[in-house]
Amino acid sequence: VRVRPLTCTETQRGDQRVVHSLGDGTIHVSAPRHDATFGFSAVFDAGTSQEAVFEGSGMRQLVELAIDGFSCTVFAFGQTGSGKTYTLMGPFTQNETRPAAPGLLGLMQRSFACLLEQSRSRDSDLALSASYLEIYNEQVSTHLVPQPSPPALGALAPSPLLYPQVRDLLSPGPPCVLPLRWSKTRGFYVENQLSVDFESLETITDLLLQALYPPPRAGSQRRRTSAHALNRHSSRSHALLTIHVRSRAVSTASHPTRVPQPSARPSKQGTLCFVDLAGSERVKETGSSGELSVEANNINRSLLALGHCISLLAKSQGKRTHIPYRDSKLTRLLARSLGGSGVTLMVACISPSSRCLSETLSTLHYASRARKVTTRP
Ligand code: ADP
Ligand code: MG
Repeated sequence: VRVRPLTCTETQRGDQRVVHSLGDGTIHVSAPRHDATFGFSAVFDAGTSQEAVFEGSGMRQLVELAIDGFSCTVFAFGQTGSGKTYTLMGPFTQNETRPAAPGLLGLMQRSFACLLEQSRSRDSDLALSASYLEIYNEQVSTHLVPQPSPPALGALAPSPLLYPQVRDLLSPGPPCVLPLRWSKTRGFYVENQLSVDFESLETITDLLLQALYPPPRAGSQRRRTSAHALNRHSSRSHALLTIHVRSRAVSTASHPTRVPQPSARPSKQGTLCFVDLAGSERVKETGSSGELSVEANNINRSLLALGHCISLLAKSQGKRTHIPYRDSKLTRLLARSLGGSGVTLMVACISPSSRCLSETLSTLHYASRARKVTTRP
């Protein structure tokens, strides 16, 4: 769990701090009529540096597991403005031109640096590539696409409103929508997803910046996304950055004169996936109307589906029933990391402000359930 500092606005209007870290992984929420203590593997309070979060969350071990061939996932969960993007990327996303100070870089950039460093120092040859997807409900402002009615499901079918879409953030040009498929060997996968090789920190950082701030194309009306618009947009979509790590052991040590023989040891393929989830806040029925609330329902539906899968996975193995990964695109894409053979780190982000109390409590409950899930890597 990470608690962000109170913002200037929150301090100025006199918000109270209702969240306190008690050390030892416990966190205390105290407000009139509320008094609760939660325990987690780690709690980072407002003063914690980005580096301390990287080291203390187990992120470094996750990077090493990915090199060893495991599927590793880190997801940031929490209401809009709680610090998810800051934790993953740092303030780098708030400004399209000036790079963030090195000390403020987030889990992503620190992991890339760690991967590249390991790639140079290990007795292995790492091939790195990245793909970047977004699950977003595009049609809201344009047109609605009805969901095809599932055959013979009758009353069980979810009310068909909108289709959440999977979009490739790396492909140049207008956003392109990709189909999500399933196969026996690959499980759920995204068809025609772009994957870009990288060998340096600059390449991968530029790739992210271009995905977040697409340059205007000749003859197009597309504007650069302002940081404000970006934040409004990202609070409604889930972004998944996946780093594919292929490692081939190269045995040059004993025969320095011979050509390296990459096939001497089997190659390993791991992944490291960073998921910046949509804001988890509940949408007040009166606050949004019409199309907007349809969109909000969709987000809630996939976060709800994620929560549902987590709750079922958290039950002891013997009591487990079928896990409904198919309920949303998000859970399909995360199926492997959630229950299969993956290793997952969830960073629950919260605000210390009294105004966020109910969302904070709901995030802490969600995270407590997620903590009970065990996987078999
Ligand atoms: P989210 O992605 O959850 O919507 P952001 O990461 O955009 O939230 O954070 C909201 C604001 O709070 C941003 O201005 C960000 O710079 C600031 N912020 C978040 N976490 C921290 C932190 N740990 N330290 C300093 N500022 C933070
Ligand atoms: Mg964000």
